[in-house]
Amino acid sequence: MIVKARNPMPEQKPQERVKNFLEVPLGFDEATAISEAERCLQCKKPLCVEGCPVHVPIPQFIQLIKEGKFVEASLKIKEVNNLPAICGRVCPQESQCECKCVLSKKHEPVAIGRLERFAADYERKAGISLPIKPVSNGKAIAIVGAGPAGLTCAGDMARLGYKVTVFEALHEPGGVLTYGIPPFRLPRDIMKSEFNYIRAMGVEIVPNVIIGRSITIPEIFKDGYKAVFVGTGAGAPMFLDIPGENSLGVMSANEFLTRVNLMNSYRYPDFDTPIPMPSRVTVVGAGNVAMDACRTALRLGAEKVYCVYRRSRAEMPARNEEIHHAEEEGVIFRLLTNPLRFIEDESGWISGMECIQMELGEPDDSGRRRPMPKAGSEFVLDTELAIIAVGTRSNPLIRQTTPGLKTDRKGYIEADSLTQATSLPGVFAGGDIVTGAATVIEAMGAGKNAAASMHRFLA
Ligand code: FAD
Ligand code: SF4
Repeated sequence: MIVKARNPMPEQKPQERVKNFLEVPLGFDEATAISEAERCLQCKKPLCVEGCPVHVPIPQFIQLIKEGKFVEASLKIKEVNNLPAICGRVCPQESQCECKCVLSKKHEPVAIGRLERFAADYERKAGISLPIKPVSNGKAIAIVGAGPAGLTCAGDMARLGYKVTVFEALHEPGGVLTYGIPPFRLPRDIMKSEFNYIRAMGVEIVPNVIIGRSITIPEIFKDGYKAVFVGTGAGAPMFLDIPGENSLGVMSANEFLTRVNLMNSYRYPDFDTPIPMPSRVTVVGAGNVAMDACRTALRLGAEKVYCVYRRSRAEMPARNEEIHHAEEEGVIFRLLTNPLRFIEDESGWISGMECIQMELGEPDDSGRRRPMPKAGSEFVLDTELAIIAVGTRSNPLIRQTTPGLKTDRKGYIEADSLTQATSLPGVFAGGDIVTGAATVIEAMGAGKNAAASMHRFLA
């Protein structure tokens, strides 16, 4: 059998895109989308669907694209996924749907994510047909957190006729999609259009309400809500715990990306929220968050951006595509390097970061080779801004204000992996607040499972 090569994604050139915040991949045109859809073998038992946590009907929507029925393809995806333009852009398809595609055994898999993005973008440009508001069943439920987990649970519950209120701590919905992922990976208007689709189902999103401060979960029940879904994510940053970390010029990646994305500092002076950007910036860590921080710093005008990571290229947790984009844009990778302390100047700002070189030993508990310091290899990296991207953990607020809600030793909520039910009757939880930092589509899968079991509970 002759299999056509996978269609490449057109992109902005690296030297142009480091000067702007516009999206890097430009998307398929109609002919390319049809050509890519023709690569799908239309398997009778499609394994790709099993690889997708929300079970998008992949062969069916790809067949519709092949037939030139692009709006119909988007509607087919939206039968199970209200955020297709977002998922087509940010899902790690290589470890979810696409890695299960049978073509991937000998060839490159069908570009499922790119086709999903194409269908959703086509429908948006053609004019989205908003959903008809379902008939109310008279029961109210509450969602805590408007991230992908909360919004997915909200959409599914609204479809079933519930009155759904989403309480969100920030002034905008979206969770990490809004405050973490930069617009050059996920444009704001596209995200807002998908949130409006969920609102059109009747979901009310109430911003600026911190559950555990403004009102607690027990009080939500007293207000007449029959069930609660908690999707508060894992947004509390972790630090290195090394000397000098409290100096000026050291911040978490969460703070940096929130200032840029949520507070629009990348649009200064249109928005009066500037962020200082010195010429030498260091990002510590090598996951997707670190790549986003490095690439954002370059776009804000830093001349040299170092990515410091204590293991080697092979262990970097970021998606290959993100690492490749960062390399193309000029991020300087200092691998097998570990920070020891920050050095301050007389004004209290950092002027450098002392590091030590590492080598890899035997695998540790995580299965990755353990990094070991090389004696006598200390050196100072000149840097005026250090951004720490070494992971996040749960925020303790909900745990502290909800008596009887069981959490594990790291503070994540304990929830059944199939039903998302917690130790409290009527309280369900899912997404990063249960699993720790994971992916958008896994959070959405948990939101969907929770909606199905919440509906059973209330019936
Ligand atoms: P979140 O997205 O964290 O949303 C939780 C929401 O709850 C937030 O809006 C928060 O403000 C709100 N909240 C918290 N506490 C309260 C409270 N007490 N009261 C009311 N509201 C509250 N995943 C991918 O699949 N692909 C990627 O490319 C990718 N890139 C990433 C880049 C960055 C910078 C980061 C940080 C993460 C990335 N991830 C990526 C991971 C992914 O975004 C998360 O796994 C996902 O967003 C988790 O969804 P969630 O709904 O559980 O939580
Ligand atoms: Fe793949 Fe994500 Fe689409 Fe599922 S939602 S089919 S994992 S791109």
